[in-house]
Amino acid sequence: MTALTEKTFASYHPASALPLPALLSQLLENQQRVWPLAAEGYAALQYAQVRAVQCRTFAVALQFNPKRLVSTGAKVDAGSIRGRRCFLCVENLPPEQQGVLYAQTFLALCNPLPIFPAHFTIAHIQHQPQILAAHFATLLQLARDLSPAFTVFYNGAQCGASAPDHLHFQAAPAGGIPIEPEAIKASRRERVREIDGVVIIMLKDLGRAVLVLEGTAAEKLIRVLQQLLVKMQTILPGADEPKINLLCQYQAPQWRIMLFPRRKHRPDVFFKAGEAKVLISPASVDMGGLIVTPMEKDFQAVDAEMIEAIFREVSWDETTMRKLWP
Ligand SMILES: [Zn+2]
Repeated sequence: MTALTEKTFASYHPASALPLPALLSQLLENQQRVWPLAAEGYAALQYAQVRAVQCRTFAVALQFNPKRLVSTGAKVDAGSIRGRRCFLCVENLPPEQQGVLYAQTFLALCNPLPIFPAHFTIAHIQHQPQILAAHFATLLQLARDLSPAFTVFYNGAQCGASAPDHLHFQAAPAGGIPIEPEAIKASRRERVREIDGVVIIMLKDLGRAVLVLEGTAAEKLIRVLQQLLVKMQTILPGADEPKINLLCQYQAPQWRIMLFPRRKHRPDVFFKAGEAKVLISPASVDMGGLIVTPMEKDFQAVDAEMIEAIFREVSWDETTMRKLWP
């Protein structure tokens, strides 16, 4: 416990004097002051170039972010993961790194290689695999405690989590991911079901499968989400859970979950050699329409056709989606 006490910048619980977003702002300010890696990371992000790419029926933004090379290119196979020291375990955190202890079970940490001007990794204080099923309630409560400033996201162990062996969520400023405004546009929304007050919507013409779940009662939303993941696992199984990326936000009085069912993690172009290699490794943020390219050549060259092909390759197709509600 000593290690955890040393690593606790502040503690958040429901009776805290300051809301969670305020504590995270203080943490971010502190970490940029005392931790050179974080200072450099956030300073570099100010100069990151962004380029819009208009695909046929949707748009995405590319972010040229060389600092993400390690994360985007990370080896996430079981052997490589076993062979490294877990960077989310409390005892392995760099000396300067501290976090906000959340509900006595998670530590919210500044991501030192950010995609957003405020980017947090919320890691469980114990080393345990990245599996969502037992933690839906935490996800919803976290989204609520972080609202309205932040959106929470989850990368499945086989879908972009750089620590697939250590349970964690991430948080980004609300509205910073293009799918967030898309998910509330009437023209995109096709209502497929309402189960126990939870509305399920499929988003149209986005080049990849996106399900939206909206509900005001946490326990009902959890039940519907659980059933949905169980069904997905029977249709296209992943290792411990179906391959997913997920965004969750709370806008009083309801939660909105944006779920990306995935067929595979990395597109074939990721594994090509030399000039043909495209270093895009889609996770929640990329599936959400903000695509990180750590290599300048990719940032310059990637076009609408490539984006559409990558989404098609890594996402569930229409035939598979139809099996959810035959
Ligand atoms: Zn760990």
